[in-house]
Amino acid sequence: MLRRHRPDDTGPFDDRSVAQTHLQEGLARLNTLQEKLYAQGQWTLLLVFQGMDAAGKDSAIRHVMSGVSPQGTDVHAFKQPSAEELGHDYLWRAAKVLPARGRIGIFNRSYYEDVLVVRIHPNLLAGQNLPSSLITRRIWEERFDDINAFERHLWRNGTVIRKFYLHISNGEQRRRLLERLDDPKKNWKFSTTDLIERAEWRTYRDVYGKVLAATSHHHAPWYVVPADHKWFAQALVADVIVDALERLRLAFPTADATRRRDLAKARRELLRR
Ligand code: AMP
Ligand code: MG
Repeated sequence: MLRRHRPDDTGPFDDRSVAQTHLQEGLARLNTLQEKLYAQGQWTLLLVFQGMDAAGKDSAIRHVMSGVSPQGTDVHAFKQPSAEELGHDYLWRAAKVLPARGRIGIFNRSYYEDVLVVRIHPNLLAGQNLPSSLITRRIWEERFDDINAFERHLWRNGTVIRKFYLHISNGEQRRRLLERLDDPKKNWKFSTTDLIERAEWRTYRDVYGKVLAATSHHHAPWYVVPADHKWFAQALVADVIVDALERLRLAFPTADATRRRDLAKARRELLRR
């Protein structure tokens, strides 16, 4: 499925500068939309970022963040689960950090790791403390069902979900990982597990294909974002977010008669002193 998507696609943009201008415009619109989202305090926006190491998740999130107020936004990075987290079902740690109404929640990786890295490395599933009778060949289908039900539940309660799979090529990942090794300022980003995961490139591509096909719905769609050019990936992500918020037809709450009277009274008081 993913084989049909080109990681080096740049859509309508011929070059970086056009995409960057477009991105800046998108971020400006995002700013106003977020203000309304927050003021209204009803809808919630949940953004999920997945992708191979060095796919550009961190930098895409940094760009989104530059267009929103930190006061209304929560970012969470999902790493190897802690002992406490492994003492619960895999959705628990995500449920704990879901954004409240009016807020934007950004997941840097997510519960999708539990049908990706955990599927690819059987020792990780073994480490999840599940009763052995529940570990059957159907477990991945069951997890897809549960993730779909979880997201549908969120949607029915006012959470708009947008999921981004940042799609890079094998060659571009090698280039970025080499940069992390060669540039002392980027050394910290390199993890030796990056090479272990890279060795499973094809398996990841196949499993990602299954995950995206099984869990993309109109209320929680996946976007395959061509990510070999970060400037394109970032512009596309911003577009999707702006579009998702514009569909909500957000508006600042309007004052009713009582509230207008209170405001007028406050105004008179302010003018008096
Ligand atoms: P990074 O995002 O590069 O900082 O790395 C975080 C690492 O944690 C990645 O290798 C993920 O695959 C791994 N990880 C995230 N969630 C889980 C999980 N539920 N089980 C095992 N590994 C995970
Ligand atoms: Mg990494």
